Amino acid sequence: MCFFAVSQYTTTFITSSRNSKLRGSASGDDFFTSRVPAKEELGRAGWTILHRISSKFSKEPDNEEKKNMKQFLTLFAKLYPCPDCAKHFQQYIEKHPPAIDSNEGLMKWMCKAHNEVNERNHKDVFPCKMDDLITRWGACGCDEDESVTISKILERRRRSREH
Ligand SMILES: Cc1cc2nc3c(=O)[nH]c(=O)nc-3n(C[C@H](O)[C@H](O)[C@H](O)COP(=O)(O)OP(=O)(O)OC[C@H]3O[C@@H](n4cnc5c(N)ncnc54)[C@H](O)[C@@H]3O)c2cc1C
Repeated sequence: MCFFAVSQYTTTFITSSRNSKLRGSASGDDFFTSRVPAKEELGRAGWTILHRISSKFSKEPDNEEKKNMKQFLTLFAKLYPCPDCAKHFQQYIEKHPPAIDSNEGLMKWMCKAHNEVNERNHKDVFPCKMDDLITRWGACGCDEDESVTISKILERRRRSREH
Protein backbone atom coordinates (compact mmCIF):
# COMPACT_ATOMS: atom_id res chain seq x y z
CA MET A 1 0.00 0.00 0.00
CA CYS A 2 2.75 2.37 1.10
CA PHE A 3 4.87 1.44 -1.93
CA PHE A 4 1.88 2.07 -4.23
CA ALA A 5 1.27 5.56 -2.74
CA VAL A 6 4.94 6.56 -3.09
CA SER A 7 5.16 5.31 -6.65
CA GLN A 8 1.87 7.09 -7.57
CA TYR A 9 3.19 10.36 -6.06
CA THR A 10 6.51 10.06 -7.90
CA THR A 11 4.82 9.43 -11.26
CA THR A 12 2.45 12.41 -10.81
CA PHE A 13 5.34 14.68 -9.76
CA ILE A 14 7.55 13.69 -12.70
CA THR A 15 4.72 14.04 -15.22
CA SER A 16 3.59 17.44 -13.98
CA SER A 17 7.10 18.91 -13.79
CA ARG A 18 7.84 17.56 -17.27
CA ASN A 19 4.66 19.17 -18.62
CA SER A 20 5.33 22.47 -16.88
CA LYS A 21 8.74 22.58 -18.57
CA LEU A 22 7.21 21.83 -21.97
CA ARG A 23 4.45 24.41 -21.64
CA GLY A 24 5.00 28.12 -21.89
CA SER A 25 5.64 29.23 -25.46
CA ALA A 26 5.46 33.00 -25.99
CA SER A 27 1.88 32.65 -27.30
CA GLY A 28 0.83 30.73 -24.19
CA ASP A 29 0.00 27.66 -26.28
CA ASP A 30 0.64 24.22 -24.96
CA PHE A 31 3.45 22.55 -26.89
CA PHE A 32 1.49 19.31 -27.19
CA THR A 33 -1.93 20.66 -28.10
CA SER A 34 -1.00 23.54 -30.46
CA ARG A 35 -2.60 23.05 -33.84
CA VAL A 36 -0.63 22.30 -36.95
CA PRO A 37 -0.75 25.67 -38.78
CA ALA A 38 -3.41 25.93 -41.48
CA LYS A 39 -2.55 27.12 -44.99
CA GLU A 40 -3.57 30.73 -44.14
CA GLU A 41 -1.56 30.86 -40.93
CA LEU A 42 1.42 29.31 -42.68
CA GLY A 43 1.03 31.89 -45.45
CA ARG A 44 1.02 34.85 -43.06
CA ALA A 45 4.11 33.47 -41.31
CA GLY A 46 5.80 32.79 -44.66
CA TRP A 47 5.18 36.29 -46.02
CA THR A 48 6.25 37.84 -42.72
CA ILE A 49 9.64 36.18 -42.93
CA LEU A 50 10.01 36.91 -46.68
CA HIS A 51 9.10 40.63 -46.39
CA ARG A 52 11.20 41.07 -43.25
CA ILE A 53 14.25 39.39 -44.77
CA SER A 54 13.83 41.56 -47.89
CA SER A 55 13.64 44.72 -45.80
CA LYS A 56 16.90 43.76 -44.02
CA PHE A 57 18.71 42.94 -47.28
CA SER A 58 21.72 45.09 -48.06
CA LYS A 59 21.23 48.35 -49.99
CA GLU A 60 24.28 47.47 -52.07
CA PRO A 61 24.75 43.70 -51.79
CA ASP A 62 28.06 42.16 -52.79
CA ASN A 63 28.25 38.98 -54.90
CA GLU A 64 28.18 36.71 -51.84
CA GLU A 65 25.02 38.38 -50.48
CA LYS A 66 23.33 38.15 -53.88
CA LYS A 67 24.24 34.47 -54.16
CA ASN A 68 22.90 33.78 -50.65
CA MET A 69 19.60 35.53 -51.36
CA LYS A 70 19.14 33.70 -54.65
CA GLN A 71 19.79 30.36 -52.95
CA PHE A 72 17.52 31.21 -50.02
CA LEU A 73 14.57 32.09 -52.27
CA THR A 74 15.11 29.06 -54.52
CA LEU A 75 15.20 26.73 -51.51
CA PHE A 76 12.31 28.47 -49.73
CA ALA A 77 10.17 27.99 -52.85
CA LYS A 78 11.22 24.33 -53.09
CA LEU A 79 10.70 23.51 -49.43
CA TYR A 80 7.60 25.60 -48.63
CA PRO A 81 5.26 23.04 -47.02
CA CYS A 82 2.14 23.74 -49.12
CA PRO A 83 2.68 21.94 -52.44
CA ASP A 84 0.42 24.18 -54.58
CA CYS A 85 1.87 27.38 -53.11
CA ALA A 86 5.42 26.05 -53.54
CA LYS A 87 4.75 25.19 -57.18
CA HIS A 88 3.28 28.65 -57.88
CA PHE A 89 6.15 30.41 -56.12
CA GLN A 90 8.74 28.38 -58.06
CA GLN A 91 6.98 29.26 -61.32
CA TYR A 92 6.88 32.94 -60.33
CA ILE A 93 10.62 32.92 -59.59
CA GLU A 94 11.33 31.20 -62.90
CA LYS A 95 9.29 33.75 -64.85
CA HIS A 96 10.33 36.81 -62.79
CA PRO A 97 13.88 36.35 -61.44
CA PRO A 98 14.22 37.96 -57.97
CA ALA A 99 15.60 41.52 -58.01
CA ILE A 100 18.64 40.87 -55.86
CA ASP A 101 20.64 43.98 -56.80
CA SER A 102 19.33 46.08 -53.91
CA ASN A 103 17.16 46.07 -50.82
CA GLU A 104 14.63 48.38 -52.49
CA GLY A 105 14.45 46.21 -55.61
CA LEU A 106 13.94 43.06 -53.55
CA MET A 107 11.23 44.61 -51.36
CA LYS A 108 9.30 45.66 -54.47
CA TRP A 109 9.84 42.28 -56.12
CA MET A 110 8.51 40.51 -53.02
CA CYS A 111 5.50 42.83 -52.94
CA LYS A 112 4.68 41.97 -56.55
CA ALA A 113 5.14 38.25 -55.89
CA HIS A 114 2.75 38.50 -52.93
CA ASN A 115 0.26 40.55 -55.00
CA GLU A 116 0.22 37.82 -57.63
CA VAL A 117 -1.12 35.42 -54.97
CA ASN A 118 -3.51 38.10 -53.65
CA GLU A 119 -4.96 38.56 -57.14
CA ARG A 120 -5.32 34.83 -57.65
CA ASN A 121 -7.19 34.64 -54.34
CA HIS A 122 -9.35 37.69 -55.22
CA LYS A 123 -7.86 39.80 -52.44
CA ASP A 124 -6.83 43.48 -52.46
CA VAL A 125 -3.40 44.22 -53.85
CA PHE A 126 -0.87 46.06 -51.70
CA PRO A 127 0.59 49.36 -53.05
CA CYS A 128 4.21 48.43 -53.74
CA LYS A 129 5.52 51.90 -52.86
CA MET A 130 8.61 52.09 -50.68
CA ASP A 131 7.00 54.23 -47.96
CA ASP A 132 4.13 51.78 -47.58
CA LEU A 133 6.46 48.79 -47.63
CA ILE A 134 8.81 50.30 -45.06
CA THR A 135 5.92 51.33 -42.84
CA ARG A 136 4.46 47.80 -42.97
CA TRP A 137 7.63 45.71 -42.90
CA GLY A 138 10.51 48.01 -41.98
CA ALA A 139 10.76 47.38 -38.23
CA CYS A 140 10.27 44.47 -35.89
CA GLY A 141 11.61 46.04 -32.72
CA CYS A 142 14.88 44.16 -33.23
CA ASP A 143 16.90 47.24 -34.11
CA GLU A 144 16.54 50.76 -32.68
CA ASP A 145 17.62 52.47 -35.94
CA GLU A 146 14.72 50.88 -37.82
CA SER A 147 12.17 52.51 -35.51
CA VAL A 148 13.80 55.91 -36.09
CA THR A 149 13.56 55.42 -39.88
CA ILE A 150 9.90 54.45 -39.62
CA SER A 151 9.13 57.53 -37.51
CA LYS A 152 10.81 59.77 -40.09
CA ILE A 153 8.83 58.21 -42.92
CA LEU A 154 5.55 58.51 -41.05
CA GLU A 155 6.30 62.16 -40.24
CA ARG A 156 7.08 62.87 -43.91
CA ARG A 157 3.83 61.18 -44.96
CA ARG A 158 1.85 63.14 -42.36
CA ARG A 159 3.32 66.46 -43.60
CA SER A 160 2.62 65.65 -47.25
CA ARG A 161 -1.03 64.86 -46.37
CA GLU A 162 -1.34 68.27 -44.60
CA HIS A 163 -0.17 70.22 -47.69
C1 LIG B 1 5.45 31.95 -50.90
C2 LIG B 1 3.96 31.80 -50.66
C3 LIG B 1 3.16 31.35 -51.67
C4 LIG B 1 1.78 31.19 -51.46
N1 LIG B 1 1.01 30.69 -52.47
C5 LIG B 1 -0.32 30.50 -52.26
C6 LIG B 1 -1.13 29.95 -53.31
O1 LIG B 1 -0.64 29.61 -54.39
N2 LIG B 1 -2.46 29.77 -53.05
C7 LIG B 1 -3.02 30.13 -51.84
O2 LIG B 1 -4.23 29.97 -51.64
N3 LIG B 1 -2.26 30.67 -50.84
C8 LIG B 1 -0.94 30.86 -51.03
N4 LIG B 1 -0.17 31.39 -50.02
C9 LIG B 1 -0.83 31.89 -48.79
C10 LIG B 1 -1.49 33.26 -49.05
O3 LIG B 1 -0.66 34.13 -49.79
C11 LIG B 1 -1.86 33.99 -47.74
O4 LIG B 1 -0.71 34.08 -46.93
C12 LIG B 1 -2.97 33.33 -46.94
O5 LIG B 1 -4.09 33.11 -47.76
C13 LIG B 1 -3.39 34.23 -45.76
O6 LIG B 1 -3.85 35.46 -46.31
P1 LIG B 1 -4.14 36.77 -45.48
O7 LIG B 1 -5.20 37.53 -46.22
O8 LIG B 1 -4.41 36.46 -44.06
O9 LIG B 1 -2.82 37.67 -45.49
P2 LIG B 1 -1.48 37.50 -46.31
O10 LIG B 1 -1.74 37.49 -47.79
O11 LIG B 1 -0.70 36.36 -45.76
O12 LIG B 1 -0.74 38.86 -45.96
C14 LIG B 1 -0.27 39.14 -44.65
C15 LIG B 1 -0.09 40.63 -44.52
O13 LIG B 1 0.87 41.06 -45.48
C16 LIG B 1 0.55 42.37 -45.96
N5 LIG B 1 0.52 42.27 -47.42
C17 LIG B 1 -0.46 41.79 -48.22
N6 LIG B 1 -0.08 41.84 -49.49
C18 LIG B 1 1.16 42.35 -49.51
C19 LIG B 1 2.09 42.64 -50.54
N7 LIG B 1 1.82 42.43 -51.82
N8 LIG B 1 3.27 43.19 -50.19
C20 LIG B 1 3.57 43.45 -48.91
N9 LIG B 1 2.76 43.18 -47.89
C21 LIG B 1 1.55 42.64 -48.19
C22 LIG B 1 -0.78 42.76 -45.36
O14 LIG B 1 -0.54 43.66 -44.31
C23 LIG B 1 -1.33 41.45 -44.84
O15 LIG B 1 -2.12 41.61 -43.70
C24 LIG B 1 1.20 31.54 -50.20
C25 LIG B 1 2.05 31.99 -49.17
C26 LIG B 1 3.41 32.13 -49.39
C27 LIG B 1 4.31 32.61 -48.28
